Amino acid sequence: MIIVMKPNAKVESIQRIKGIIEENGLNAHISDGQEVTIIGVVGDKAKLIDQNLEIYDDVDKVVPVTESYKLANKKFHPEPSKVKVGDITIGADTLVIMSGPCAVESKEQLLDTAHAIKKAGAHILRGGAYKPRTSPYAFQGLEEEGLAYMKEAREETGLPVVCEVTSLDAIEVAVKYVDMLQIGARNMQNFYLLKEVGKTGLPVLLKRGLSATIDEWLNASEYIIAEGNPNVVLCERGIRTFETATRNTLDISAVPVIKSKSHLPIIIDPSHATGVRDYVKSLSLAAVAVGADGLMIETHPDPSRAWSDGPQSLTFNQFEDLTKDLAPLANLMGKKL
Ligand code: PEP
Ligand code: MN
Repeated sequence: MIIVMKPNAKVESIQRIKGIIEENGLNAHISDGQEVTIIGVVGDKAKLIDQNLEIYDDVDKVVPVTESYKLANKKFHPEPSKVKVGDITIGADTLVIMSGPCAVESKEQLLDTAHAIKKAGAHILRGGAYKPRTSPYAFQGLEEEGLAYMKEAREETGLPVVCEVTSLDAIEVAVKYVDMLQIGARNMQNFYLLKEVGKTGLPVLLKRGLSATIDEWLNASEYIIAEGNPNVVLCERGIRTFETATRNTLDISAVPVIKSKSHLPIIIDPSHATGVRDYVKSLSLAAVAVGADGLMIETHPDPSRAWSDGPQSLTFNQFEDLTKDLAPLANLMGKKL
């Protein structure tokens, strides 16, 4: 449940309610909005059964929160959250573009890509060093060597870097090299991994599971936030449907649905959603129009020779064309690129 305080509620009144909640063995999360303060209660609310909190000074009303996710819930935190990755802020006035290769293949490939995407206006470099491949015989990633190239690319270009982690060992290594950890679609409900990335305190890009409902996805984000790490960005990357013309089906409605249920920023990944390079631009434009906070787009110096996801990767020229076409629409939506 949440306790909505009256406008301009006194600090003592807020602290008093917080104290009652904590004395009863629950956690209180205070969200100071521009107009009102909201106190979110996490824990077994049966413990508060004897307390009528509405009788206390400056309390406006007590509202039940029926969803099982609380800290990710918009009712707990009505204002949109902003997540900082290096000096880039996601969820503010910039349409944040993450781009880079599916997999880090070599130092040269990564540095070339980092320079090219930066020139085209991207804000964050992506690159996989631990690849969760469908086949165990496919390239699994350069692991720590790949992370070291990511760090080098950050030092050369100033772009913050994001990398997927697939195990506890990978988290331990990756925290030394990257600015943001990615949880891939296949691990969205790996609750142990979610808790561990939560403990790092680093910003987390949480991709939607291949067959996950929005409710399951928000509960996955709750696992991270419940560890004391509110820096979660959601990424819609297509879901499994009966349609086979595209690799997945981009659920564009996820953006307004998430915005109505949660305060977390959400970006769209049209590359994994479609698996087809030719569809990336139109869906990127759609993502901006629907109000996404950013995009993740795969790029490669020579997609025909990419070790993974070549068919959906853009060349540098195609990526530059894309950012040029996105800029006016982003401006129209009140965002800069
Ligand atoms: C990726 O971003 O490299 C990736 C594997 O994506 P997903 O987890 O969405 O399939
Ligand atoms: Mn990929």
